Amino acid sequence: MNLLFLGTGAGMPGKLRNVTSVSLKMLEERKAIWLFDCGEATQHQILHTSLKPGKIEKIFITHLHGDHIYGLPGFLGSRSFQGGNTELTVYGPKGIREFIEVSLKVSETHLQYPLIIKEIDEGIIFEDHQFIVESKLLDHAVLSFGYRIVEKDKIGTLDAIKLQKEGISPGPIYAKLKNGEVVELEDGRILNGSDYVGPDQKGKVITILGDTRSCDNAIKLAKDADILVHEATFSEDSEEMAYNYFHSTTKQAATIAKEANVKLLCLTHISSRYGKEDSEKLLEEAKNVFSNSIIAYDFLEVPI
Ligand SMILES: [Zn+2]
Ligand SMILES: [Zn+2]
Repeated sequence: MNLLFLGTGAGMPGKLRNVTSVSLKMLEERKAIWLFDCGEATQHQILHTSLKPGKIEKIFITHLHGDHIYGLPGFLGSRSFQGGNTELTVYGPKGIREFIEVSLKVSETHLQYPLIIKEIDEGIIFEDHQFIVESKLLDHAVLSFGYRIVEKDKIGTLDAIKLQKEGISPGPIYAKLKNGEVVELEDGRILNGSDYVGPDQKGKVITILGDTRSCDNAIKLAKDADILVHEATFSEDSEEMAYNYFHSTTKQAATIAKEANVKLLCLTHISSRYGKEDSEKLLEEAKNVFSNSIIAYDFLEVPI
């Protein structure tokens, strides 16, 4: 899996950073891409990447501020034109349905694929055989959610070399052993699946938060995550401003990362008051608290 940042700025688009959107590429795992937020011109950003809109299976909206949703109607319409015909589900706070339905109705946009809109609350909002997505409320001027995406552990690999050495050829027996079953062969030998399957492979945990002040739910969502994507709208010297505007500073984001014991912190949602030359200073502020920090920029791709 990879995270590919499409927009890493706060509030309004700048020349350096577009407004917020980040994609979670799961092409190997489920031949799909999930999108988190869809700020204005996200579809323009996608044009500069290898992302195929038809492969975008789910869009998770953190909150209804314009810099996180104004790109949605355009993206949804274009996905139809570009041949996207597979189902798409949008998750978001109450109000997301009205926003999408009114935009599509007024502009007479008719989608060529099934669109499902789910207005969410706190809790498990999605689960299948591979992933669980949990949401919790953060501390922002409007309802803002954070998402914890948990990949379920994968069964270890079958040791085919060991089996072949013991004269057992591939076939239905392999599947049974992989399931951990005990199998009796025709020659009377008894094989136990657990002797031939490696340990479970631990699934990854990805935490992506909406705009927020520093808050306890951020720590809960990020507990032991492989990667935490946390907003850092302001520099550490603007703590009061961050508080007044319901945002976080670099240092506050890093403190959350440290308390949650994440493996990697990725700062995003950077105010346009900071230029390219400020990035290093902002990153330094975070690193002083949590050394395994990086600062996102548009089109940064991070392997998980
Ligand atoms: Zn924002
Ligand atoms: Zn906001």
